[in-house]
Amino acid sequence: MINTEKFFEFIKKSPSQYHVTEEIKNALLEKGFTEISERDTRAFSDGGKHFVIRDSSIIAFSGSSRDSGFMICASHNDSPTFKVKNTRGEKYASLAVEPYGGLIYYSWLDRPLSIAGRVGVEADSGAEMKLVNIDRDIAVIPSVAIHMNRTVNDGVKLNPAKDMLPIIALGGSCTLADIIAEHLEINPDEVISHDLYLYLREEPRIIGNNGELILSPRLDDLSSVFASTEAFISAKPKGVNVLAVFDNEEVGSSTKQGAASTFLHDTLLRIAGSEEKYLEMLTDSFLVSADNAHAAHPNHPELSDPDNSPLLDGGVVIKYNANQKYTTDARSDAIFRTVCKRAGVKVQTYTNRADLPGGSTLGQIAGTKVSVPAVDIGIAQLAMHSSNETMALKDLDSMYQALLEFYSTKIHNEGKSIKII
Ligand SMILES: [Zn+2]
Repeated sequence: MINTEKFFEFIKKSPSQYHVTEEIKNALLEKGFTEISERDTRAFSDGGKHFVIRDSSIIAFSGSSRDSGFMICASHNDSPTFKVKNTRGEKYASLAVEPYGGLIYYSWLDRPLSIAGRVGVEADSGAEMKLVNIDRDIAVIPSVAIHMNRTVNDGVKLNPAKDMLPIIALGGSCTLADIIAEHLEINPDEVISHDLYLYLREEPRIIGNNGELILSPRLDDLSSVFASTEAFISAKPKGVNVLAVFDNEEVGSSTKQGAASTFLHDTLLRIAGSEEKYLEMLTDSFLVSADNAHAAHPNHPELSDPDNSPLLDGGVVIKYNANQKYTTDARSDAIFRTVCKRAGVKVQTYTNRADLPGGSTLGQIAGTKVSVPAVDIGIAQLAMHSSNETMALKDLDSMYQALLEFYSTKIHNEGKSIKII
């Protein structure tokens, strides 16, 4: 059974993608994994339990057998938010921000916000990157009063350059460098650069008359990240198990460490030890792309497919798209549904309504670099890309149990026959 309190702690400690990777790193170190560098190719193929970090993405692996394939689960550590550019203003000190990913603007209004990410600071060696979490209620984006916009409830258009600037102080003397320097106890002149984002200060909580629901920031995709990390750590691999957590899914994955990069390919090749072995191992490999799915909305059931719309507490969602934005096909579905059946986990199917194009995720993108059978799955949730999202408590455990079984399995492909061992 997955530990919900531990999940909530994980979310609280992970206000930015950099913090997510740091939390996974700490969890792996605690379980005897060792960090290796991309510079040290030989260390990858020694059959040990290792992880490697490329910028803000992390890949961990365990299992000594090189006679079977890679069992890979991939998810993403970034969430839609606002990237902070600089401070501005005179009467009020505000933050100039820029949207990161496809976020719902209005969900960020009138809420306590803070700032987290990483900064480059001066060091004797040249420069050093440091994690930053200001960790106090430092900002708010005020909405316009109804008296100044009488038609607000007819729908309001929010401009990120004008309407979404958070106030951080009264008076214009406060700068971002001052805030960072005070937090890190350094001189503002020593702050060179930053990748900082807003985050909602509300904590994850259980809601519902019977405590059935979780309301929390960043459920997409930290619920998949957490469930896959816990399953990966707990499982005994039959082949080589791989946990991949990529940054930048929300902005298309095309960064040096995103799912469209060479990171997964390079890591698997190094684990295999040779190009020949790598290609052999791919034939019995499988990729699970784990990212949240849309549940049918209780107030708007018409927005979902009438026959294939997942419900909260309905179990793991397997996602299909005719145009292959999701990687699932009958073959990969047959494998993963069998795994779920063995785990005793309920499964439901998602398809887009035929006239509403849905989203996409990292499975298809990763598949262009590492071409193996793959399935797109997720936990059903409401309000995807809101600053606060809702899912069912039990679905988190279903995801964990399904992935635990997946990581305890190996597959062997022989033409039309698939051995699921
Ligand atoms: Zn996602």
